[in-house]
Amino acid sequence: MEDLPTPLRCFNECHAAEKFVDDGVESVTSLEQKKVESSIEEVINNYKQIHSLPQPALVREQHYQYLKKGLRHLSDAYECLDASRPWLCFWILHSLELLEEPIPPAVASDVCQFLARCQSPTGGFAGGPGQHAHLAPTYAAVNALCIIGTEEAYNVIDRQKLLDFLWSVKQPDGSFMMHVGGEVDVRSAYCAASVASLTYILTPKLFENTTNWILSCQNWEGGLSGVPGLEAHGGYSFCGTAALVILGKEHMLDLKSLLRWVVSRQMRFEGGFQGRCNKLVDGCYSFWQAGLLPLLHRALFKEGESELSQQRWLFEQQALQEYILLCCQSPTGGLLDKPGKSRDFYHTCYCLSGLSIAQHFGNMELHHETILGKEENRLAPTHPVYNICPEKVARALRHFHRLSVTETRPGDVTPSEPTAGSGDQQS
Ligand SMILES: [Zn+2]
Repeated sequence: MEDLPTPLRCFNECHAAEKFVDDGVESVTSLEQKKVESSIEEVINNYKQIHSLPQPALVREQHYQYLKKGLRHLSDAYECLDASRPWLCFWILHSLELLEEPIPPAVASDVCQFLARCQSPTGGFAGGPGQHAHLAPTYAAVNALCIIGTEEAYNVIDRQKLLDFLWSVKQPDGSFMMHVGGEVDVRSAYCAASVASLTYILTPKLFENTTNWILSCQNWEGGLSGVPGLEAHGGYSFCGTAALVILGKEHMLDLKSLLRWVVSRQMRFEGGFQGRCNKLVDGCYSFWQAGLLPLLHRALFKEGESELSQQRWLFEQQALQEYILLCCQSPTGGLLDKPGKSRDFYHTCYCLSGLSIAQHFGNMELHHETILGKEENRLAPTHPVYNICPEKVARALRHFHRLSVTETRPGDVTPSEPTAGSGDQQS
């Protein structure tokens, strides 16, 4: 006899008590919050009417078809992402690896050739062929090539020039510009640390002062802002923390206040995460916020925290899965921000990445799965630092470890062992 499915949290009678209370003070944001809650309540009620046994399903086949098509053809709506084309490669390829759908060799080779055309003659990758190198598409391109993981893919990356590019955007205070002459924020530190560690060109000199600069982005709320002095934000908190994990300095954060900030961003009624205090739930923060919990779990464990669970992260994993499966899936494939919004590849990637985090606790040795709905909902695990599958991280590190960089800056020592190693980073 089959086991009865796990009762849904949102079917519980007490669930309505989790709704937002405005304390009699109506504001633009309180009205928006109530509107979102009622649209989610409607989704839940519709689901209840059709399904007596709650088994929310991941519509895998529809997601697969949507993603497969996106690798070859994009609608006019994507014109605005003409300077973010390596991102589309990463979002789609990572979504496919989470769904455990293989990439046909001919498609993989075409992606390699396209990304090679995005590589700048001065190093790093641009948002499209002929554009200027920029750290964000550089991160996306390196991740996409590591997901493909073939010799052809690895050989696209000119590591020597990549190192030159990273030096060209490094600032004396430890921060990085997103591109030459561009803005500085904590995303760039993460993108730089991520590509440098994956390709084995990370040197202490290149990241001199970076730790202190990132630490200065943690504010009184507990989370991190884009630059020192601004509001704490999910995307920047993830980038800053993941960069510190790569640099082996995450213990220097105020871990407890970051933990309190991030768990408070999981919405009581919706189950998903908001990006900032007093903002609305959004599916993409399923990764940017929930992805912080594996990083924090490991950091707290290393600090000797003895009360940590060996089965669960420190957030409501089931509630997040309910939000993603019930509220963020387009029935025709692709995932989205919240009910009423349209699907896109960015939200598809980060909703699936967050779903994977919520399903898998631990690392290769210690692993516990919490899968809502049928076993077919199970995604592949993702590496919480790089957000590609852990075995792809391990393979890339093995490959690039064998190679060397011929020229380094004065004072550089040989590339150091990336501390966020091959899938052993979680707890
Ligand atoms: Zn979003």
